[in-house]
Amino acid sequence: MGETIREPAREIPVTHEADVVVAGGGTAGVACAVCAARLGLSVIMVENTVQPGGMVTHVTQWTNDFDNKGGFAREFYEHLVENGILVRPYYNPFRVVPYLDSLLEEAGVLPLYLCRVAAPIVEDGELQGVIVESKQGRHAIRARVVVDATGDGDVAAFAGASFEFGREGDGAIQSISLTHSMQGFPRDRVHLRDELLPMLRQVDPECQLVYDNGYIRRQVDTRAGLLFGTPHVFGYNPLDAESLSAALVALRKQTVELFNLMRQTEIGAELEFGPFGGLPGVRESRRICCDARVTVDDLRAGRSRPDGLFTVTQSIDIHKRVPEDPAIIVERIQPYEIPYGALLPKGLERILVVGRCIGGDHEAQASYRIIADCFAMGEAAALAAHAAVRGGVGLREIDVPALVAEMARRGYKNSHSTASA
Ligand SMILES: Cc1cc2nc3c(=O)[nH]c(=O)nc-3n(C[C@H](O)[C@H](O)[C@H](O)COP(=O)(O)OP(=O)(O)OC[C@H]3O[C@@H](n4cnc5c(N)ncnc54)[C@H](O)[C@@H]3O)c2cc1C
Repeated sequence: MGETIREPAREIPVTHEADVVVAGGGTAGVACAVCAARLGLSVIMVENTVQPGGMVTHVTQWTNDFDNKGGFAREFYEHLVENGILVRPYYNPFRVVPYLDSLLEEAGVLPLYLCRVAAPIVEDGELQGVIVESKQGRHAIRARVVVDATGDGDVAAFAGASFEFGREGDGAIQSISLTHSMQGFPRDRVHLRDELLPMLRQVDPECQLVYDNGYIRRQVDTRAGLLFGTPHVFGYNPLDAESLSAALVALRKQTVELFNLMRQTEIGAELEFGPFGGLPGVRESRRICCDARVTVDDLRAGRSRPDGLFTVTQSIDIHKRVPEDPAIIVERIQPYEIPYGALLPKGLERILVVGRCIGGDHEAQASYRIIADCFAMGEAAALAAHAAVRGGVGLREIDVPALVAEMARRGYKNSHSTASA
């Protein structure tokens, strides 16, 4: 449908003002909001769902690449271990939610849940804040720095930033999955991966998993089994409302079929149907074109940069993009750095992008998109926003060597920490 309508111009109340508005209270967003507020900035975090954490609390339960991290990432990891929420490498996402609530509250962040960033406020390429939609209707938040932590780069894209999508050539993206929790998982079982398909085939010899790398794991400290990454769909577009909705319906159907089979297996007697994750497991969508672009060559060469903020050691993990792909393509890489420039959308001022949508190519994104690295990006963005606001300068005029040094001082491994060691 090519038809358009003209939305009438209207007055929108400015309901809030802050030094920093963080769009999206997910992985990178929470880290950014907490760190920025701890630096004394006023911070509003706008989150579309009911809770903080994004993928950390809705989708996954597995930690990796934390060893070379300091700051917020280390604090998170150690709190989870000390409180029995994490038994390396798995954590209980349900118990992470109240922990993140307490971090946000103690830091003084104002969270707005069930509130969606609908549009940026842009004047001459400079972000002035965002327009949000909530039960109050449409209202505006003015801010000196906008941090786009929506995962999809919504704010930067709506502000006019160009972006890449999917692999070069055909734009195919990795599969979308859905996490599902089932109750009554046997206490003496922890993990079903290799046994999953044989177990299901005892019930239905024809059974095929759409994705044979998925598994069911008993949640740390509970009798809930988390069906993780097994339902998978390909060829859907997470940026298209109709396509994403169809993906969700297809994923729920796959989950129900799997659950019904599971019920008939040797461990099925007490299994009960539980909740779905509140977000689809979207692995990639927009990658915003930024001053710097992290490439697969950087990963293979183990490249460090003058503005390198922290180190990534995670392999490239590309999950099926099309049915004929292997379940997962894993490529080991050399430790490399994420440059500050990969957080600065080209042609825009007063905005940073953090999380899986920063500037990089399809293969590289399949390495740095993980939780620990998204936390580190959020923390770096908080420091950059602080330097810009307090110094009264643009995000491109801040003292970048000082930012790199501060990340190192906080325990993130980068060239500065290596040089001063
Ligand atoms: C199925 C799956 C399994 C994974 N497994 C692992 C794993 O085991 N270990 C690991 O380290 N990583 C894993 N990852 C990767 C990692 O979890 C994510 O890439 C990372 O958490 C993304 O962080 P983010 O901050 O970019 O986005 P998110 O955590 O998704 O946060 C984005 C937030 O923004 C909100 N939002 C979006 N749009 C708007 C808007 N317009 N207005 C307001 N709010 C908005 C969303 O609701 C969400 O809370 C997995 C990813 C997937 C999909």
